[in-house]
Amino acid sequence: MKIVIVGGVAGGATAATRIRRMDESAEIIMLERGEHASYSNCSLPYYLSDVVEDSSKLLVMSEEKFLDQYNIDVRTLNEVIEIDRDQKRVMVKDLTSGETYEESYDKLIVSPGAKPIMPKSIGGIAMPHVFSLRNVTDIRKIEGYIDENDVKHVTIVGGGFIGLEVAENLVERGTQVALIEAQNLVMAPFDYDMVQILHKTLHDNGVDLKVNTALERVEKDRVKFSDGNSLHTDMVIMAIGVAPETELASQAGLEIGRTGGIKVDARYRTSDEEIYAIGDAIEVTHMLTGESTRLALAGPAQRQARTVADDIFGGEAFEALVTGTSVVRVFDYNAASTGLNEKMATAFGADYGTVHVIPPDKVGLMPDSHPMHFKLLFDKHSEKVLGAQAIGKGNADKRIDVIATLIKMKGTIKDLKNLELAYSPMHGTAKDVVNVAGLAAENILKGDLAQVPVSKVRELVESGAYIVDVREEKEYAAGHLNGAHNIPLSKLRERMDEIPEDVPVFLHCRTGQRSYNAFRLLSNKGVGNIKNISGGYLGISFFE
Ligand code: FAD
Repeated sequence: MKIVIVGGVAGGATAATRIRRMDESAEIIMLERGEHASYSNCSLPYYLSDVVEDSSKLLVMSEEKFLDQYNIDVRTLNEVIEIDRDQKRVMVKDLTSGETYEESYDKLIVSPGAKPIMPKSIGGIAMPHVFSLRNVTDIRKIEGYIDENDVKHVTIVGGGFIGLEVAENLVERGTQVALIEAQNLVMAPFDYDMVQILHKTLHDNGVDLKVNTALERVEKDRVKFSDGNSLHTDMVIMAIGVAPETELASQAGLEIGRTGGIKVDARYRTSDEEIYAIGDAIEVTHMLTGESTRLALAGPAQRQARTVADDIFGGEAFEALVTGTSVVRVFDYNAASTGLNEKMATAFGADYGTVHVIPPDKVGLMPDSHPMHFKLLFDKHSEKVLGAQAIGKGNADKRIDVIATLIKMKGTIKDLKNLELAYSPMHGTAKDVVNVAGLAAENILKGDLAQVPVSKVRELVESGAYIVDVREEKEYAAGHLNGAHNIPLSKLRERMDEIPEDVPVFLHCRTGQRSYNAFRLLSNKGVGNIKNISGGYLGISFFE
């Protein structure tokens, strides 16, 4: 069988090597438009800070290695310019010689990825000091421009994970960075309340973060925004998102989905059964909403590639529905998420509840114990877990991976509460962060806890709500919410008569743990009209 693959990186290279493992006699040709096949796209930003010292280390497999180890014919600088479905052949342009040739196929796998969005409507976007980042050639160009032009200030446009990683690595390198984001928050997979932690971290590390700011025009040494403001800068890196590369598929008459990605079936076959499509270029199905979506991540691309190889060779193929699990490091913090956030849950019409807890990620006595901000979404009726977001200095990814697994297994709050997880003081707490979230969610479902989200605190303070801070006096003296009354949990039993009965009372402490205990104490004594501020003073501090 002759298999031709378009695109030689995450999806393409994985499909090629898996096919070889399935069948020794298949003829495999992998055509890659760029200078390199099989490189680590995800590590590209780390070249700017010397975490990756040598850009050649970004290249995972050379053409020679593909041939020697796998007998795969890899041709870089070879662009597929047309698919002739009737004749089952592709037209290829050799970008070195400029000549074109044909290659026939029995099966064609299309994994052309997605390209950075560079809107022509932004004036000056084609200027030589404006860059985008997709491959090794791009990162070498960025690095070269910074060095040759003694760049002191870079404006990054877009606060997604690529924008944030580039920002962090440029700061590490000693470059001044402005990060421009048109929405009111960076990292769209997170909710506004959680993302405040990342906003503060960016500010604390010297990144000039401007949210609600859209780039309008690039000039030689300046960027101009739609609000009339402008900024002096030496260089611009565009990271406002990616668009699936569908031109080849469209020209060949393959069906394109509602979201703009190539439409595929459960086995990743396009509307032509002999042609598969995988990776950033396709439309996938969200496991929780059942809706079509796009997901430009390496893990899904590689799983899809394996599924296609298995399908071609009669192995067990299955459609991997996506939950959108991802993680990013932003300076000292790790931020991970999976499943639905509040915006998505609302759009989907889910009747969902949330909890926001901030347990320590390790036993507090351990030297590197830090609070883990953790938000969980669950369906109030089925009690199934719908999504989670974790941000902290410790292992946010571990917590989110547990939740991602639970979602995949259709787990409920009860399952989460009962999960038996690895523990030693150096690694976690006996009740892990995710168990704590499960317990808090169960309390809400059972009516043992009523809460308001931390994002509502400003409103509460401004409206003169009765807030009781149950931290110790010393903690209160070091800083507290305007107008909050201090009744430490340790003195609450003797000072209960200070809790008013005629107005709603909002309880809070550092993380929400002591105020939960205060809630239970008061509730057991028959005090109604009380609510816990979920997220605590630690969460509140990010809003100030
Ligand atoms: P790609 O890996 O982009 O490969 C597509 C290839 O096809 C390209 O090299 C392109 O040149 C080639 N091509 C296109 N058209 C043609 C044609 N007509 N003929 C021949 N060749 C063609 N994902 C994560 O999960 N975690 C991360 O931390 C992460 N970090 C990232 C950091 C950066 C800077 C970037 C750019 C991406 C990152 N990603 C990350 C995303 C991840 O790299 C992609 O989701 C993944 O590479 C998609 O695989 P793909 O095969 O669909 O596309």
